[in-house]
Order: sequence, then structure tokens, then C-alpha cells
Amino acid sequence: MDTSSIRIKEDRLRQDLLDLGRFGEMASGGIGRTALSDADLEARRWFKERMREGGLKVREDAAANIIGRMDPPSGPNEEPCIATGSHIDAVAQGGKYDGALGICAGLEALRAIRESGVSLPCSCELLVFTDEEGSHFAGTFGSRAMFNLLQEGEMEKSRGAGMASLAKDLKRMGKDPQKIAEARRSPSEFQAFLELHIEQGPVLEEMEVPIGIVDGIVHLGRYLIRVIGKSGHAGTIPMHLRDDALIKAAGIVTAVNEAVRSAGPEIVGTIGEFRVQPGAINIIPGQVEMSLDLRSMNEEKLTSVKRQIEKIVLSAEKAGMETVLTKGGVRMDPDVMMADELSCRERGIPFHRMGSGAGHDAMTFPMVNIPAGIIFIPCVGGKSHCPDEEIRFEDACRGAQVLADTMVRLAFRGPLHPLP
Ligand SMILES: [Zn+2]
Repeated sequence: MDTSSIRIKEDRLRQDLLDLGRFGEMASGGIGRTALSDADLEARRWFKERMREGGLKVREDAAANIIGRMDPPSGPNEEPCIATGSHIDAVAQGGKYDGALGICAGLEALRAIRESGVSLPCSCELLVFTDEEGSHFAGTFGSRAMFNLLQEGEMEKSRGAGMASLAKDLKRMGKDPQKIAEARRSPSEFQAFLELHIEQGPVLEEMEVPIGIVDGIVHLGRYLIRVIGKSGHAGTIPMHLRDDALIKAAGIVTAVNEAVRSAGPEIVGTIGEFRVQPGAINIIPGQVEMSLDLRSMNEEKLTSVKRQIEKIVLSAEKAGMETVLTKGGVRMDPDVMMADELSCRERGIPFHRMGSGAGHDAMTFPMVNIPAGIIFIPCVGGKSHCPDEEIRFEDACRGAQVLADTMVRLAFRGPLHPLP
């Protein structure tokens, strides 16, 4: 497949990214654009307009996913489509490129394919998914709604008192949450899904490689560690008679960190939440609760480190650990990865195969047997989910080029090796 006529226009892509970054922009330079907030709704309206200007047929489904379709020049047909996309929402105080890159680059890829005159045998779709970041309850809402992977009742749940549920916010924009099943689509409508995303870590920048080809998304385990002590007066109880829950917890934190570090580079572990009770300056801590987040591409490694940590926790007096959530990892499709590699090779762009420590909408597709791939570009300083999130536009341009080339390559299927 000769893809040399497909040319991404860096200026146009840059302008779209900058324009989209104005919706929800904060004084800090980051954005506040949680899913279905006012800023998100405005951004969605603007983006739908950009999609229409780009020649896509645009509709919105019952889960508020935005779907833009570009039919082949010969007219619509029943062939399964090649899809790309990402999300338009951001975490609270997030950055301008997480998700935004994937949808803007997807749009640019489709425009470039159309302008190239290449006559595709199937339609292409650009999918803008709702609430990938899980600001209502759980993440990747839109993509899971599309393939009937929602949990019972999750649309009614929210992240805390006073916060809206998805059902409520969908109603606010005029949708009927009871009709969520209308968002469902058959996996047979899709030939493949590709997502371009910022790496959200420092690996590519450190290696000075512009493209990452993701081979899988990590297994995830989340746990709650609880340490019980005895609260009491901070002035009257001598040190040797105390059972201070925080002191015991501090020992556990250090030991957990040691255990994860010594398990090697394949696994990461984080204690990010820490609650001390009663939590007053003049009371000895009676209870501590902390979170533990473990991630690895290697499921056995994750299980063995988790067991080791359990032993550490149980060796402390009156301490326990329970599982809050486990999520299986996902393997990306080997043929899609090969197509990505070929696109990189033909453009002379260095690439690196790597795992992803974060979840993305693309991980929903393998769950329903749709071949999927993720392409990463570096983010400056490895920073993400913060106002400092930055990219280099030439990297975005290269990523969009690999995306467009690979979409075309996959549309013609089979040619996963160079044609004569
Ligand atoms: Zn994202």
C-alpha cells in the first residue's frame, strides 16, 4: 500500500489542538473540562462543527458519544469500518492533550486521507467517547456503553456526595439514560480501532524516540490497607504505653515501597491515599486507612508482589488488607502493531514497543474481539493529568501521520507487509 500521498498538515492540527485547549482553560494553563460539564459541552459543540467542516457525517448516540463517519468515495457500503478516536473530557485540573490529541489527530488523519485521493474500500469513523476519565464514576464509560460492558447501576452512581451521576448529566443534556442500550453497536461493524494518545510517562522522551507502539495495557490491582491502633490523649499517655496506628502504618508504607522496588522494573506500586483517624493534633491516631495501587504487564508478578505485601501488612499488629478492584490487562492486536511498525518504517520514524501503565478507550475493543492498537507520542517531562502537560507539535504531526497511514493500511487489510 502506497501511503506517500497522505500528508498531515501540522498547522491545521496545531490550530485545532490550541482551539480545543481553550474550552475550560484555567489561569494555571491547564483545563477543567470534566465530562458533561459546561466546558465539555461547549467543546463538544465546537468539535462537532469541526468534524462537519472536515466532511464527516456526525451523530451522537445515547451515551453522548460523538460519531463522525467518512464513507468511501464510491459511496456507503456494508464493509466493517476502520475507526479511530479518543476522549474530549479531562480530569479536574488536567492538561490540554490527554484525549484531545487523539480526537484532533483522528480528524486530521481523516481529512488527510480524503485529500490524498486514496480510494478506501470501507468507511472510516472518528469516535469521541464520553467520560473516559471517570469523573462521574468509572472510566471509559462511552466505549463500554457502545459494547454493552456497563456494570449494573453504574450510571446512577457518583464519585461523592453532591456530585452528579452520569444519568443525571445525560438528562441535563436532553438524553434518556433509560435508553442507553441504543448506544450499543455490533463488533462486526468494526474492522479495527486505533487510538493516538500521549504517553503520560517519561519513557519515550528519555529514549528520544518519537513513537511508541503499545503492545498491552497493564494488569491493575487496587487494595485498601487498614491499620488499627488505640487513640488517646496526646499529652497524658507515655510513649511506651501507646499503640499508634500511624507509626505502624509508616512502617508498612516503607516496607511496601521496598518490596515493589526489589521486584524489578516490571511492576509499579503506589500508596496515594492516606486517612488518619481521628485526625487531630492532640489525639494519638487510632486508625489509618491507605490505598495501594499495583500495576504490571505481568500478571504473575503482580500476584506474587501482592502476596508479599499482604505478608508485610499481616505481620503488623491489627492490620489487614482487602482487594477493592482488579482489572485484567489487555493485549493489543499483533497485526495492528505490525501495521503501525510498517507505517513508521516507511516514513523513517523510529519507534519503540512498550506497555501502557494507564487505561484508554482502546482497551475496550479487544474485550469484544475488535483488533485494536494504541500509538503513543512523548509528552514533555513525562507530565500528564496536570496543567503542565505539554507536547511538541512535530511529535503530534508524526503521530497523526502514522495513524493515518495505518488506517489506510488496515482498510486494505492483508497488506501488513510491503507490497511490491
Ligand atoms: Zn486519555
